[in-house]
Amino acid sequence: MESVNIRNFAIIAHIDHGKSTLADRIMEMTETVNSREKKAQLLDDMEVEQAHGITVKSRTVRNYYKGDDGQEYEYNFIDTPGHVDFAYEVSKSLAACEGVLLLVDATQGVQAQTVANFRLAKENNLVIIPVINKIDSKGADIKKTVQQIKKLDPIFEEQDFLKISAKTGQGVHLVLEAIHQRIPAPSGDDSASLKALVFDSVYDSFKGVIAYIRVFDGQIKFNSKLKLMASKESFKASTIGVLTPNMKTVESLCVGDVGYVITGIKDPKAINVGDTLTDEKKPTKSAFPGYRKAKPMVFAGFYPKNNDYAALKAAIERLSLNDSSFQYGLESSDALGMGFRCGFLGMLHLQIIRERLKDEYDLEVLTTSPNVTYHVHIRNNQKIMEVNNPAKFPDFSEINYVEEPFIRAIITTPVESVNQVMKLAERSKGDLKNLDNKGDLVVLEYNMPLSEIAYDFFSQLKSISHGYADLDTSFLNYQVADVVKVEVHINYAKVDALAFVLHRQDVPKASQNLVKKLKYSVPRKLYPMPTQAVVEGKAVARVDIPPLRKNAAVNGEKRSISKKKDLLRRQNINKRQSAQSDIKLTQEVFNSLLELK
Ligand code: GDP
Ligand code: MG
Repeated sequence: MESVNIRNFAIIAHIDHGKSTLADRIMEMTETVNSREKKAQLLDDMEVEQAHGITVKSRTVRNYYKGDDGQEYEYNFIDTPGHVDFAYEVSKSLAACEGVLLLVDATQGVQAQTVANFRLAKENNLVIIPVINKIDSKGADIKKTVQQIKKLDPIFEEQDFLKISAKTGQGVHLVLEAIHQRIPAPSGDDSASLKALVFDSVYDSFKGVIAYIRVFDGQIKFNSKLKLMASKESFKASTIGVLTPNMKTVESLCVGDVGYVITGIKDPKAINVGDTLTDEKKPTKSAFPGYRKAKPMVFAGFYPKNNDYAALKAAIERLSLNDSSFQYGLESSDALGMGFRCGFLGMLHLQIIRERLKDEYDLEVLTTSPNVTYHVHIRNNQKIMEVNNPAKFPDFSEINYVEEPFIRAIITTPVESVNQVMKLAERSKGDLKNLDNKGDLVVLEYNMPLSEIAYDFFSQLKSISHGYADLDTSFLNYQVADVVKVEVHINYAKVDALAFVLHRQDVPKASQNLVKKLKYSVPRKLYPMPTQAVVEGKAVARVDIPPLRKNAAVNGEKRSISKKKDLLRRQNINKRQSAQSDIKLTQEVFNSLLELK
């Protein structure tokens, strides 16, 4: 199709404001799918996506629409992931569009994610069409919602607003019309060298990496020789196509088109979101900037629960192929045996991988407590160790100083919760950099240690704001930190898999809480087990894990002294025999390492 008749757009919305429903309605009204093919939610087909109600991998769908002006349009709908762990993917998906539908639920009004997404769309200079949804609902307050959106950007005028019900279809026709009327056609030079943006990719074990791309200049022809400019990987475009939403092969992809290219490349790490795809022979002179490798931020050990190491290895290898931001390496632990050190974009990402292992491979894993990567500067030499496994954290006598990753956190919260949010951020060592009042919402910017926010900050933020606050993070830099390694000794033996790294100021409270929790989570033995938190060679907290049965010595039964002595002697033999910690580490034990402060 001529590029003047192409429109590339995304729908941005706060969760549950109706994005999936509207996308389905658009596909239905453009007859992209007929009702026989219809499922409840057409796009969110991965099991985990349905469980979390979020989109993990972005999708794109081509629709054809016959406008009221009699012209035929190609509408490429580009879906974006909705969680902070995937912010980079959101940003790249938007870079593939000329405009967005800013969808707001009239019963809820503008919410934190509305603001965050709006900001991203602005940064990408996109045309924004404000769409008010759920007007069929009893609680809809259209007037108030219009006011709130106007506060976001005074540029919006009364006639810009579309008022719809994605559920009943009311007003959706006007949305379809506004897309071609208001969003500009893609512009670009057909005769220039190929310049296409890779905004997503998936791995297929037969076809290799499939790249989702948007053409900006030139065109991709079937069988042409192509090159990725950042990774310098070359390949032949053996198959190119579009998603309707199923894969459909085409002969060429031209300026403005959105589609996929089967690269045949077997190494998924060779293709990264944000890379520029071009002609091998005459590459474009203007590659996209902003190219970044997906970098894991949070690490944890994965160990097989039922000793099926080989099965876990195979599953992890396959998952990492499909999700290049998920990385892994082998590791072993005295307590747990052979396993993997895995890297994730964030905690939700970790959870998703765990669930996929269960759903798709029927495998359960023990997950050790998550941590970030520390830069450990070694005393007496220039060496810097990158440590992402607390068990490998060097002894304090060898350390000169340690640096930890910092992030910039942008929190959008309703005014009512701002005090609590600020308290939470301060507790999490946040340094307030900016505060911006946007009517009913406040935007706060903090610099914070990643370790403070990587684990449960997001869920705490959600809970204190009743789900209404939102978080957007980006990596800032490494800064010197006063952190120490906390070792756990159970029954006089160090348990390497339970070690973790913590800010020194949090040690007293956290170590007390830790031993208290371990008292109830470590499976008991026939004898009491002293359990200690040890920092820099000193025990900072201790508790005795009570024995399974009553101790002979304190047992209230009437026994002769000699009988008690005899019992005690036998108990002590037991104790010595098992002095090496052979305790069973359950997931519960690892969970006691979370939320200690
Ligand atoms: P998403 O999280 O933005 O993808 O939201 P969904 O499309 O999954 O919708 C969230 C909920 O709102 C679902 O229960 C939908 O049925 C409901 N919903 C979506 N659009 C409308 C609408 O126009 N009117 C009403 N009453 N409910 C809607
Ligand atoms: Mg959805």
